[in-house]
Amino acid sequence: MKVTFQYALQKFNEYNQLCFDNCLPQIPIRISNSRRALGMFVHPRNYPESAPRGVGECSLRISCRLDLPPNEVDDTIIHEMIHYYIWYEKLKDTSSHGPIFRKIMNQINTRYHRNISISHKCSAEEISSDTYNRNNYICVSRWRNGEVGITICARTKIFEINRIFKTIPDLLSLEWYWSRNPWFNKYPVSRTSKVYKIKPDELVTNLSTATPCEIINNIFQPKSH
Ligand SMILES: [Zn+2]
Repeated sequence: MKVTFQYALQKFNEYNQLCFDNCLPQIPIRISNSRRALGMFVHPRNYPESAPRGVGECSLRISCRLDLPPNEVDDTIIHEMIHYYIWYEKLKDTSSHGPIFRKIMNQINTRYHRNISISHKCSAEEISSDTYNRNNYICVSRWRNGEVGITICARTKIFEINRIFKTIPDLLSLEWYWSRNPWFNKYPVSRTSKVYKIKPDELVTNLSTATPCEIINNIFQPKSH
């Protein structure tokens, strides 16, 4: 669906009542065209700790760039509303998606049968401040034109993606790694052989702590030599 302002506003009011006891004051909702950040809660930085929260400079941005099913749009809106709630109530979390965020998220998921997650739904800034360690199954592809690509693969799709890559004529080589370095969290987990271009020096730096892996007889394992 294409997100509209009317839709986002209606859902904000609906979930404010359903999930947050109507405690969140209305703030401007803006429709953006961002590909990276599907949603974003914008608030003043360095807000005086002792002052009660004023919401005059806050807003909620929802991207209409991707054609997502309504359920995922709603999950994105609620995700951002959790950020708003934590800021508004001055709750102290350890990071953007720390224990408090996850506790509220899990409660809403359980109680209202939602599927809110902390991945893919965040601003670049949030992602870089994230300390969440996910398992990254990293496929590095080197191409005939000199470019280097990266694909973070879904665990269940590693073998399929490996097989598909090997049929692409312009591919020079393929390397596999496993890493929990949160730097890789900025890439979405792929279920297909989708390649993101990456600067070789950036890759080398962030792969320095990764475990080189290999696929032998349909087993994904650390490289033996
Ligand atoms: Zn977030």
